[in-house]
Amino acid sequence: MLPIIPEQQRMPVHVYVYAIAIANMLCIRLVSAFTIYESHAFRPISIPHHSTILRMSTSRMMQKSEPHVPRTHNINVRNRAHLILLSASVNTETEAEIKLKQKQEKKQTFLKSEREAIAKKKDYLRGAGVFKKVKRDVTEAMKEQFDSDLMNEMKETPNFMLVKDGVELYLAKDHGFCWGVERSINLAYSAVETFPDAQLHITNELIHNPMVNDKLHAKNVNFIEKDEDNVKDFSQIAEGDVVMLPAFGATLDEMRELDAKNVKVVDTTCPWVAKVWNTVHTHQVRGLTSIIHGKYGHEETMATKSMCETYVCVKNLEEAEYIADFMLNAKKGDGSAEKFMAKFAKASSSHFDPHKHLVKIGLANQTTMYKKETRSIGQLLQKTVMKRFGPDLINEHYYEFDTICDATQVRQDAVDELCNMHEDPDQPDLDFIIVVGGFDSSNTAHLLEIPQMRGVPSYHINEASCIRADNTIKHRTVSGEIVESESLLKSPMEMNVSDGIPKTLRIGITSGASTPDKEVQDALGRIIMLNKLYNDTPELTV
Ligand code: SF4
Repeated sequence: MLPIIPEQQRMPVHVYVYAIAIANMLCIRLVSAFTIYESHAFRPISIPHHSTILRMSTSRMMQKSEPHVPRTHNINVRNRAHLILLSASVNTETEAEIKLKQKQEKKQTFLKSEREAIAKKKDYLRGAGVFKKVKRDVTEAMKEQFDSDLMNEMKETPNFMLVKDGVELYLAKDHGFCWGVERSINLAYSAVETFPDAQLHITNELIHNPMVNDKLHAKNVNFIEKDEDNVKDFSQIAEGDVVMLPAFGATLDEMRELDAKNVKVVDTTCPWVAKVWNTVHTHQVRGLTSIIHGKYGHEETMATKSMCETYVCVKNLEEAEYIADFMLNAKKGDGSAEKFMAKFAKASSSHFDPHKHLVKIGLANQTTMYKKETRSIGQLLQKTVMKRFGPDLINEHYYEFDTICDATQVRQDAVDELCNMHEDPDQPDLDFIIVVGGFDSSNTAHLLEIPQMRGVPSYHINEASCIRADNTIKHRTVSGEIVESESLLKSPMEMNVSDGIPKTLRIGITSGASTPDKEVQDALGRIIMLNKLYNDTPELTV
């Protein structure tokens, strides 16, 4: 029961307010409030609805007041106002603290938190620091296996150009192994050295390069098979084994599964890929749908998708245009959502609803896509959002963060330069550009697109053996077909210029970010040999 104090003994209400505030500051809030309350009567006061105090949760206040005022108590307006005031004084958390707590609680539901929780475990190894002891030996072994004298010779010339056995070789200034791939191989080799007695596995391929993968096979590393839907069979992994994650990362489901198996994980994911995951995390925090410029079946994009709450993948500008058109013109019930889902069924999250999920969007990309295309897609989406919602609301509906990795970008720029040289009338034209890299390697495939778009003859091969002694070449086209073409080198008759002097064979050279220089050297060796063969023995010409 609350004590009743005669009218003449009551003090004005502001005295109570100040008293409570001072008690608060002295950190004796609860005791002070009740002491004051219990020794003085209460007088009706009016508290404005917008007051901070009123914003406190009523249920919370009721709970805190429970020992004194049971929920069943019939609280009149006077008492309720007083309880609000009292509760404000007894609550030890500030509004900012409550907000922070709510934010932290919410954060627990983010996919990134789960990924980080797994990655923090002691058997989850990442970063070169964990393999310091074997670092020097591993670095030397890699140099020996992947370096090339011929390529080093070219790199030492001012224009990366060399004449070798009568063939002019023009090397793209940026080519071959990127930092992320070298790091990944280094970690994998280090794991082999550090755990000689353990069974080691790689979740499919470490990188997309046959030479590197063969070397790992030779070290008894098991490559986990995947089915046509890219699902990997982890049944062969036993407790205590060591499992390496590739440079392009692993999906969250794979991380969960491995976590449950009690294995050591060596994570070789490239930090540039992790940067994309951070971008899609930002999308999730901001309630945006991730539009991923990438191939939905590519390993890296699969990992990125698994870190997204809501996503749709677009493989090129054309698909992005389809999305833009939907955003501007589709109406509920006109059948466009069904058509959209038929097109993007495999490329979007399971709960995707285009009417609902194309209102607030963010752009992310597979790190190895063609950077000019990513930019065009970004511009298109930005314009679309502006058209639909107006320029003032662009920040509310669109977020973009460039995640094309530097290695991809500089390699694309360098092959562009070779094309410039070919087109420049004052510079020698090239017979063709040879692009060396795995057929599954997305960044290598994009290196081919550039000369092909610019009309420079070019071939993408995955290893030296694609160039054959019968002057044929096995290569991958821009559309992804593996084909065989005849007459890689023209016959001496075709190559001769009008004055009868044989034209020098000129080749542009580049290689993907997962291609060792040694592989390129082997391919060039074959071309040089073929050229010699044809020039020395014209009867062999086709
Ligand atoms: S191409 Fe870029 S993202 Fe891929 S491994 Fe290399 S540095 Fe990393």
